[in-house]
Amino acid sequence: MPVLVPMPADAPYSYSVPEGMTVEPGSIVRVPLGPRLVAGVVWDGDGGSVNPAKLRPIDHVFDCPPVGEPMRRFVDWVAAYTLSPPGLVARMMLRAPEAFDPEPWTPGLTYTGVDPGRMTEARARVLGLARDGLAWTRSGLAHAAGVSAAVIDGLAAQGAFEPTLIPPAPVVAAPDPSFGAAALSDEQQAAGAELRAAASAGGFGVSLIDGVTGSGKTEVYFEAVAAAVAAGRQVLILLPEIALTQAFLDRFHDRFGARPAEWHSDLPPRTRERVWRQVAEGRVQVVAGARSALFLPFRDLGLIVVDEEHDPAYKQEDRVFYNARDMAVVRGRIGGFPVVLASATPSVESRVNADQARYRRVALRTRFAEAALPDIRSIDLRRSPPARGGFLSPPLLAAVEATVGRGEQALLFLNRRGYAPLTLCRVCGHRFQCPDCSAWLVEHRFRGQLVCHHCGHNERRPDACPECGTFDHLVACGPGVERIAEEVVERFPQARTIVLSSDMMGGVRRLRLELEAIAKGEADIVIGTQLVAKGHNFPNMTLVGVVDADLGLANGDPRAAERTFQLLSQVTGRAGRTGKKSVGLLQTYQPDHPVMRALVSGDSEAFYQREIAERERTQLPPFGRLAGIVVSAATRADAEAHARLLRRAAPQAVDIAVLGPAEAPLALVGGRHRFRLLVHGGRRSDMQAYLKALLAASPKPRGTVRVAVDIDPQSFL
Ligand code: ADP
Ligand code: ZN
Repeated sequence: MPVLVPMPADAPYSYSVPEGMTVEPGSIVRVPLGPRLVAGVVWDGDGGSVNPAKLRPIDHVFDCPPVGEPMRRFVDWVAAYTLSPPGLVARMMLRAPEAFDPEPWTPGLTYTGVDPGRMTEARARVLGLARDGLAWTRSGLAHAAGVSAAVIDGLAAQGAFEPTLIPPAPVVAAPDPSFGAAALSDEQQAAGAELRAAASAGGFGVSLIDGVTGSGKTEVYFEAVAAAVAAGRQVLILLPEIALTQAFLDRFHDRFGARPAEWHSDLPPRTRERVWRQVAEGRVQVVAGARSALFLPFRDLGLIVVDEEHDPAYKQEDRVFYNARDMAVVRGRIGGFPVVLASATPSVESRVNADQARYRRVALRTRFAEAALPDIRSIDLRRSPPARGGFLSPPLLAAVEATVGRGEQALLFLNRRGYAPLTLCRVCGHRFQCPDCSAWLVEHRFRGQLVCHHCGHNERRPDACPECGTFDHLVACGPGVERIAEEVVERFPQARTIVLSSDMMGGVRRLRLELEAIAKGEADIVIGTQLVAKGHNFPNMTLVGVVDADLGLANGDPRAAERTFQLLSQVTGRAGRTGKKSVGLLQTYQPDHPVMRALVSGDSEAFYQREIAERERTQLPPFGRLAGIVVSAATRADAEAHARLLRRAAPQAVDIAVLGPAEAPLALVGGRHRFRLLVHGGRRSDMQAYLKALLAASPKPRGTVRVAVDIDPQSFL
């Protein structure tokens, strides 16, 4: 039998099935591998041509529902598409080893119908609860009746209870599709009906909900969720920042009377295992999760929703490089069920798919209720520069003052953590750089540290320059959110100010509390990174100021304009969620840049058309295909030499060209030197076959050299 083990193996290994053991494709088993025992999945096919005498037997079959056929095909597909060993993809599916055994049943008690000889008030309370014959745990019953456990033991001794076993509790209650259906606007109604029909009909198809921020995309895709739940199918909702989506879980609860099961890396291990197991058993019907939730072993998945489908967080750039948005569509095609993508600023790829009618486009053009979109304006920093040493221009400061004066909230957005992105010595010009990366150290003043944002290296900020020894002449260059906060506190000492960024002390729990506090109006001025841009509803926020609207445009990424447009639309969309008039102000040195013009005019359509035309002209995705190859090694020479060997091994092809190698913009990361090749192909080119041929024709990486292939790269650093 072929068994796929969670290792970088290119194919399943063969094992024999001992007498008396039954397995089928999908069975989760334990097998010997070298000196160890590992968990694996029985795969399809006949298991290759290993000499039967050498076959080692499967050690154990877990009492676990087998991984279904669609999931196995999905693992194969992802492996083939991303050029990853199938074993590594399977590993993503097997991330909860303790869950392969069934959850234990809990010892409990049921009432026998026999009453004790002597009745006390405490005993009467206990029996009052237990008389209906349902099972209780000893401590649960004592607690509910408000008595000590000794009272329960006394009753048991008199024969009033007999022991029983209670099955494991569900991690979440069952959702009720008709629990709290919202009254939808006409526009929402029409969109919802379309999605509902697609979800009840089943069958593969992709819908793109393209709706301005605040138009109620969530309410609308809940219609599809309700239809799938009513049909008894399982549903997966992917969210880009699951750890911060408390508000989403509450909304789901309002709509369905129960929460979805959560799936992300911050879950306690025990909860993870229980969710995994109950998803496999089909007992959990709806999961809301991060990209890794795609690899949960759903028993009967019938719908996937990808919220904020354009979000770069859906791309995993580690081991198996995949985009969860794209893979969700693949999973829907394999499983034969509908997929819903939602965004106020769809990716160019999804927009083109909708324009070419491969996806159904469901547009929501107006904000819900009386909420109006904010009035967006740019502030030309060449004409209205900030005061010396500051980063906020006079018009922005005036707007903040007026907003706070009216008792409303202002958000200042800067997508840069810490205090300052660069520290240098004013005497000798020394710049603080990471010893292991080609990156400046970012000062984090609250923590008193200089930190590398690529590898996490950190050191105390010294008082003297390590180069020339001069004291007190180190200067911070440029702003991060902490520095903006300092400027705000200086200008508005009376205002209540909150800084939000992902490196804040106290982690996700503290962030959740802070976000709730802001929504309740407990802050006047919020200073935040992209964390605040995502999905939150702050009813009293009427001003969003973007400190550096040009920040994302600088790098050589072909998606820089698209990304900046998406991020700034999203962040300015935090303003004006209720009827109040609201404003978004963009501080920029390039007010004529197409991105700024699109934001100010509100004409996103023109922006998309221009961007799409440009991609078509340059044959960039989705009109062409890209793959990145990153070669890294302990020395620069080794990395460069191997990158050149790859280039030399590149076969000739009419519709595929290899560019590079070039030293990566991030030439050094975590002590490894990096070179990049970019493979550019036509829309119909077979990128995977080409890359396989290239890798097969090149020498195996030796020593410290490593080669990573990134299909559909998002990062070019
Ligand atoms: P989007 O995801 O498009 O930005 P949301 O789904 O978050 O929009 O909706 C924005 C706000 O409007 C939310 O507070 C939501 O509860 C509210 N809302 C939208 N549609 C309705 C509706 N039909 N009934 C009640 N509230 C709604
Ligand atoms: Zn570093």
